[in-house]
Amino acid sequence: MLPGCTPWPAPIAAGYRREGLWLGESLGDLLKTWAGEHGTRTALVKGELRLSYRDLDARVDRMAAGFLSRGIGPGDRVVLQLPNVPEFVIVAFALFRIGAKPVFSLASHRANEIRHLLELSGAVAYVVPGTYRGFDHVALARDMLAESPALRLIFTLGAAGPDPAVVPLAEVDAEPAPLPPADPSDVAFFLLSGGTTALPKLIPRTHDDYAYQLRAVAEVCGLTAADVYLAALPVEFNFTWGCPGVLGTLSTGGRVVLADDPTPDDCFTAIERERVTFTSVVPTVAQLWLEAMEWGPADLSSLRTIQIGGARLQPELAARIEPELGCRLQQVFGMAEGLLSMTRDDDDPQAVVHTQGRPISPADEVRIVDENGDDVPAGVAGELLTRGPYTLRGYYRAEEHNRRAFTGDGFYRTGDVASLTPEGRLVIEGRLKDVIIRGGDKISAGEVEGHLLAHPHVARAAVVPVPDDFLGERIYAFLVAPESGAAGERPGLPELKQALHQRGLAEFKLPDRVEYVAGFPLTPLGKVDKKVLAAAARDRSAPRDWAEKG
Ligand code: AMP
Repeated sequence: MLPGCTPWPAPIAAGYRREGLWLGESLGDLLKTWAGEHGTRTALVKGELRLSYRDLDARVDRMAAGFLSRGIGPGDRVVLQLPNVPEFVIVAFALFRIGAKPVFSLASHRANEIRHLLELSGAVAYVVPGTYRGFDHVALARDMLAESPALRLIFTLGAAGPDPAVVPLAEVDAEPAPLPPADPSDVAFFLLSGGTTALPKLIPRTHDDYAYQLRAVAEVCGLTAADVYLAALPVEFNFTWGCPGVLGTLSTGGRVVLADDPTPDDCFTAIERERVTFTSVVPTVAQLWLEAMEWGPADLSSLRTIQIGGARLQPELAARIEPELGCRLQQVFGMAEGLLSMTRDDDDPQAVVHTQGRPISPADEVRIVDENGDDVPAGVAGELLTRGPYTLRGYYRAEEHNRRAFTGDGFYRTGDVASLTPEGRLVIEGRLKDVIIRGGDKISAGEVEGHLLAHPHVARAAVVPVPDDFLGERIYAFLVAPESGAAGERPGLPELKQALHQRGLAEFKLPDRVEYVAGFPLTPLGKVDKKVLAAAARDRSAPRDWAEKG
C-alpha cells in the first residue's frame, strides 16, 4: 500500500476477503469487464455526446498509454479538477489503470485549496479544465508549477499554451500497451474530507473497498442495466461518484448522464430527454426542484428514485418529495470516509421521512457513544463511530490527526451526533465537529477563521453556522477588532470577502455575515464557547455582554 496510508489490520482484511466482500478487483479492470458485458450500450452522455462502454474503455486505454508515455506512472499522485465532463471519468480510469492516484479536487477550489492538495499529495501532475466559468485554471496551474516542487505537468481540457509543461488532454493519447497489474488492496484514488481541520485531509480509497461499496450500494438501490443515472451534483463528490452514482451505474450496465449543474433548468431537460430513472441531490437542490415544479411542471415521470443526502433533510421537505416529484425518496447519510446509510424501498413511509435509514452493509459496524466512549441505548443521542469494509483506517499522511480521529480499535469518530431507533435506523441529530454545512458544501470553521485573522484589522475570529431556510446553514463570523485599531477601521462584509477571495479561498467558504463584538464567551475550560455564539447568531437581539475581552 502507498506509504502514508493505513491498511486494514491483516486478519480483518483476510476476513473481508473470505466473506467475499473484497474480491481482489481493481477499478481499471472492472471497467474492462463492464465493457465486455455491455459493449455497445451507451455508458456516458453529455449534451450531444454519447460514448458506448466500448468507446469509453478504448479511450481509457489510449489515455493510460498517453500518461505513461509522459512519465506518469504507478504510485504517482495527480490532482484532478474537472467539471462534469466525460474526460473526468476517462482521466480517472486511465490513472486507475496505470496505478497512479487521482486526488479529486472540487471544481470550485482556488489557489488556497489547490496549493494545499498539491503539497499534501506531492502530486506530479494537475488536470484542469482550461478556463471554466470565467476562471482561468491554467493560469493558476502555472503559478503552482513555480511553487510546488513535485509538480511537473499540467493537463488541460483547453488548447496548448506556449509553456511545454501545459499539455492538452487531447494529446494524451498513445497506442495501448500491456500495463502492469494494479494491486487491488492499494489506493485507487483520494477523496477529500469534509474538513474538521483547517484544510481538507485526503481519504485513501482502495480498489477493494470501493469496488465493494459499488456492489453493495447498487444492490441496495436495486440498480439494473435499465437505469439511467443523472449526475446532477459534481462528479468528484463521493455521493455522485459512487453511492451508487457514476460508477455504481456503470457497474450494472446503466447509462450515466452528466449535467452541467444541479439547476432545474439543466436537470429537468436532461431527465425528460434521457428518461432518467435515478439521481442524487442535496436538500437545497431538492427544494429548488420542488419550487420549479410549482412554476411549471416538468415531465419527471421516468424518475423512480431521488436520493437526498449530504446535509440534514428537514422532515417537512422530505414529506413533499414523493407527492410533488412523483418518485421515491431515498434518504442518504454518508461520508467520503466510508459509511453509507440509506432508507430502503420497502421501509415504511415514516421511516423514509424521519430517519437516515440503515448502513448498506451487514459488515458495517456502528456505535453511538457518550463523552466517555461508552455505548448509549437506542433513542439516546451520542457520537457516531464506525468501521467496516469500506471505511478508512487513517487519513493520508496525517499521523497525529489519525490518533484523534480513530479509536484504538480502528473505529472512525465521525463527529456526527446520531441516535439509533429500536429497529436500528440512524437518525442524525447534529454534529460535534466544527464544520458548517452550507447547501451541502462542507466548510471548516477553523479554515475561515485562519483567513479572517490574516486581515490586519481582525484580532480574533470565531465562525459558526446560522440556520437558513434555503441553504440549511450559512456562515456567520464573529470578529474582535484590535484594541489599537482606530474607530472606522472595521472592515465590513464586502471588504472581508474581497480580502479572502484575494487570498485564493474558494467562493463557497466566504462568510455570509460578520458581526463585531468586544470579546467572546468562554467555556469553563477557557475555550471559545461556540454554542453560545451560534445561539447569538440565531438571535440577533440577544445580549452580547460576554465577559472575556479580545
Ligand atoms: P462528505 O464527506 O463531504 O460527504 O461529508 C460527510 C458529512 O456530511 C457527514 O459526516 C455529516 O456531517 C454530513 N451529512 C451527510 N449526509 C447527511 C444527512 N443525510 N444528514 C445530515 N448530515 C449529513
